[in-house]
Amino acid sequence: MTSEAPHTPEAQASPDNQSSKGTIRVLQLYPREMNIYGDWGNALVLKQRIKWHGYTPELLEYNVGDEFPDDVDIIVGGGGQDSGQLVIQDDLQARAARLKQLADEGAPMLVICGLYQLFGKFFKTSTGPVIPGIGILDVETHGTDERLIGNVSMKSTEFGDILGYENHSGQTTLGPGVQPLGTVTKGAGNNSKDGHEGARYNNVVASYLHGSLLPKNPAIADFLIRTAAERKFGSFVPGTPDDEYARLAREHAARRPR
Ligand code: GLN
Repeated sequence: MTSEAPHTPEAQASPDNQSSKGTIRVLQLYPREMNIYGDWGNALVLKQRIKWHGYTPELLEYNVGDEFPDDVDIIVGGGGQDSGQLVIQDDLQARAARLKQLADEGAPMLVICGLYQLFGKFFKTSTGPVIPGIGILDVETHGTDERLIGNVSMKSTEFGDILGYENHSGQTTLGPGVQPLGTVTKGAGNNSKDGHEGARYNNVVASYLHGSLLPKNPAIADFLIRTAAERKFGSFVPGTPDDEYARLAREHAARRPR
């Protein structure tokens, strides 16, 4: 365990700090263990879009044993192997109260796959161990022998069509305290039965989709940035993002087979 303050490898001032509309701090949870199938890309997309909107991004990392920063505006967390989830479980429990407080207060968060599962009540792995979650999301996950793997498309009322890639053994069911993020039109999503994908609670967006998710789904990135700006500065003044690569990535992803 170290007691170092979280380092800021990507912290940087905007080129013309004078005209920055303010700093938005993005905290990535457990990038050492929970960062597969390109999930780091979600933090990079937030960094670029925060700049395009005229704000100054600051990327922080939080790993097991780090000091949790006082001041964060957006929290992102990725997926991981069951073994990675076992490594972080105790530290995550130690941070549960703070994360729950932030979620209840309306902090914007994006959690993918392995951390989606652990933001829920528990993940009972297919090999036996039950990894307790932190209960921000009213969901539970049961590991099975069937892996749900492949490209996913879904419809959502909030963000339009959402595209990505899934690979998980855990099957998640939603309780009454959350809404699904969307309904799948290709792929499995939360489980092999009900057609739901992901979960929504307050300003927390949870999804099984890697790929990463945000490069192909900038509407979700802008939701996180807008929410962060409104909470911190009282309003969000959008800039002019360049969405051409996102458009091309979406077109390509939509044509991919399951
Ligand atoms: N280990 C979990 C599972 O297999 C999560 C996988 C992931 O994050 N891709 O269900």
